[in-house]
Amino acid sequence: MTNFRIGFGYDVHQLKEGYEFWLGGIKLEHEKGAVGHSDADTLIHVICDALLGAANLRDIGFHFSDKDPKYKGIDSKILLKEVMALVRKEGYEIGNLDTTICLQIPKVNPHIPEMKKCLATVMEIPENNISIKATTTENLGFVGRQEGISAYCVALIYHQ
Ligand SMILES: [Zn+2]
Repeated sequence: MTNFRIGFGYDVHQLKEGYEFWLGGIKLEHEKGAVGHSDADTLIHVICDALLGAANLRDIGFHFSDKDPKYKGIDSKILLKEVMALVRKEGYEIGNLDTTICLQIPKVNPHIPEMKKCLATVMEIPENNISIKATTTENLGFVGRQEGISAYCVALIYHQ
């Protein structure tokens, strides 16, 4: 059991008109999109942070600075691939991920199978090891007012 480690990730992005809405590696059709230095894929960012946390490798901002023009508008799938390489370099493999997306609209549920497929390909792990859940916040707070999106992830990794 001592080979197992757990990590946790949390992230928020603002939603605004005129931005693309990337989530879980796919593009959602919506009048608003997520604002950020990268493509602002909140789900991928929490997965990266949970994996880095599990391996005690700091956080996503430490590895990919939002001041660095190299990462401006970058596809977060590239960041996730790099995080996987960092974690695997330390001798870890992924057990499973469990995530929750908090978004008022649009509905996330119809897109979950495609997100899982996309993330499994990027991370080179079975789809069965990736859980994606979605909830609204019952119209409460910044998520409820459709001003932003938040997400959470826990990840289990183990030493090979
Ligand atoms: Zn983010």
